[in-house]
Amino acid sequence: MPVEVMVPAKMRLPNVRALISALDTVPDAVVIFGTDGAILFVNKSAQSLYGHPVDAAQGRSVDELLATRHPHGLATIRSLLLDAGEWSGEFFRRSSAGAELKIGVDWTLERDEQGAPSFVVERSRDLTRVDEIAEQVRIASHRYENIFQAMAASFWELDFSGVRRMIGELMQAGVTDFAHHFHNDEAWLEAALRNTIVLDVNEKTVEMFGAESREAMIGGNIEAAWPRQSRHLFADALLYAIRREPRLSAETILTRIDGTPFNALFTVCWPPGHEGKGSVLVGAIDISDRKRSEAELIASEARYRELFQAMSMGLLHLDTRRLWQIFNRLKQEGVTDLRAHLEANPHLLQEAMEATVVAEVNAAAVALYRATSAGDLVGKTVKGLWSSKGMRTFIRALESGYYLLPGFEEETEQVRLDGTTMAVHVSFNPSPALRAEGRLLVGLIDISERVAAEAALAELKETFAHHTRLALLGEMTASISHEINQPLSAIMTYGAAGRRMLERTVVDKEKLVVIHDNIIADARRAADVIARTRNMATGKEADKAVMQVAALVEDSLRFVEHELKANSVRLEKAFADDGATVAVDPVQLQQVLVNLSVNAIQEMQKVPHARRVLMVRTRVEGEHVAIEVEDRGLGVPAENLPRLFDTFFTTKTTGLGMGLAICKQIVEAHGGKLTADNTGSGALFKALLPRVQVRPLPEHVVSGDGTRGAGNFRM
Ligand code: ADP
Repeated sequence: MPVEVMVPAKMRLPNVRALISALDTVPDAVVIFGTDGAILFVNKSAQSLYGHPVDAAQGRSVDELLATRHPHGLATIRSLLLDAGEWSGEFFRRSSAGAELKIGVDWTLERDEQGAPSFVVERSRDLTRVDEIAEQVRIASHRYENIFQAMAASFWELDFSGVRRMIGELMQAGVTDFAHHFHNDEAWLEAALRNTIVLDVNEKTVEMFGAESREAMIGGNIEAAWPRQSRHLFADALLYAIRREPRLSAETILTRIDGTPFNALFTVCWPPGHEGKGSVLVGAIDISDRKRSEAELIASEARYRELFQAMSMGLLHLDTRRLWQIFNRLKQEGVTDLRAHLEANPHLLQEAMEATVVAEVNAAAVALYRATSAGDLVGKTVKGLWSSKGMRTFIRALESGYYLLPGFEEETEQVRLDGTTMAVHVSFNPSPALRAEGRLLVGLIDISERVAAEAALAELKETFAHHTRLALLGEMTASISHEINQPLSAIMTYGAAGRRMLERTVVDKEKLVVIHDNIIADARRAADVIARTRNMATGKEADKAVMQVAALVEDSLRFVEHELKANSVRLEKAFADDGATVAVDPVQLQQVLVNLSVNAIQEMQKVPHARRVLMVRTRVEGEHVAIEVEDRGLGVPAENLPRLFDTFFTTKTTGLGMGLAICKQIVEAHGGKLTADNTGSGALFKALLPRVQVRPLPEHVVSGDGTRGAGNFRM
């Protein structure tokens, strides 16, 4: 469908049609509107987000059409946009279908050549869904936690490996009818009970069986809990295990530590993934009060399973018991600053990952990690799941456990089983009850798509930047003559001086060498300026190097030596930067300093020779280095100060008004600031540049990618 677009007269972007078809492919909604709010352009994504076709939207007021609403009022954010040239934030709008939308938006104000606001480029995206997902996550994890804690059942995790060995021996001895064997060989069955070791129980078990503590039960066997009359059920459980049945449930009689029997509903299951581990899970509830409890176990277990499995977010149940052993060891060693300790002992991080085992996962987690089944994850440590980029999250999770802090959520990176990485929103939900059991519930949502959308947005911004650069290039072409003229006329002057010298009878060879050196330096500078313009056109980042400020300034001043002499201007330098360094493109920064100096020298042509002094100073100001260029000219008329840095602002008959605009752009592109002021006896231009430290970067806690930051200072 051909899109009719009103191209604003002031929109000097090259190849508008190509840009428009590019805008139609981006996932962000792009709307361009005039300063009066009238819509000039909407891209495809904007049409589908807001539901207005292009012909219904064009020419309409954007705020009326979409019922834009901001808590502080639209006037406030518009004036912020006018002040800063851009605004980002959130507001509400209404789609054509009447749905309330929460919108995340970036506005960029474009100006015409006179600097007057011309039109606004808006990029927006729908945040309504993002909020819903976050809310769902919050509710789901809260509900899950409650159900888990409310379970009234006794849970046991039992080590079955000894019994498995015994069964293996029977097989080797040629036994095939296990049912017969188990039900008849009482001594064997008793030995099997003694060989079944308690790995863990919950608090409910301690209470139900009247034990002293969990510790008193862990490590012991289960013989005491199984009275003689119930042993047939134990034998059945073994048969189920051999036949690979997933679970067995039955009513039976179990005994408390003091020997009193009670009616119990007994469930044993071999959760998928536990096969290799040789451990089984057993649940028991006291059904003496049958009506209540029976329903309770079934309901709570079923509800828990259902919730856990049905949850659309990935859920991981982690077994952190071994991790807690490490924590306890560190606490005994008196480690109070865990992070510092981990930095000093990076192997501990590996150890911690290996001690954290996946106990259970739901279907969403299986899909998330691109596993074929839960068995690919369960029983494995979390080591393979963390990328080096996600490591800071793992460290934060360790800290949260170590200091018993509440849970947290953040965006991080994880590794799928196929080795690819994914951006995830992860939430750690340690409840005191789960923590006491050495369990941790982790929720995961794949946000790769959103992150990809953000990357596309960044790319879009880059495209915009490139087009702006191209537009700027037009202006640059005008300014090139300005930049190149200065070295060229210097070369001509040096050339003429050299020639005059050669015509003399006695030739001063030393002076000739100096003259030639100057010619070479100026020619190189002209070449550098051209190269930089070329880089700008191809969108290449400038080549930055870490340089001492004083050296940078000295280098630049060499290029104005000729102007200084020709205009009888005295140069005063005061370097007080203590050898501070900055990361800059040297050619660009030279251009700034040469421009400021030449302006100052030109300005002082208006005052008597005796008064002409150019002062160049450097100084450290906190995290910045200040470079000041001050003159003793007539200063800047107050009414011109606000427009000084505007493109094409000039008071000179032959001026282009490009110099200061470019200087400001260069300094800001270096993360700095350029300001101008009057001193009362002239003008003062001040460039503030961020300092960089020249020292090796500290080795990172995790050398996951094996690289170190030291040594390389090019940026
Ligand atoms: P151009 O030199 O081509 O005019 P600039 O952008 O370098 O362009 O400077 C813009 C204007 O700023 C100048 O025309 C002049 O009016 C003013 N200006 C710049 N430097 C000084 C200075 N040191 N003292 C007074 N006015 C200055």
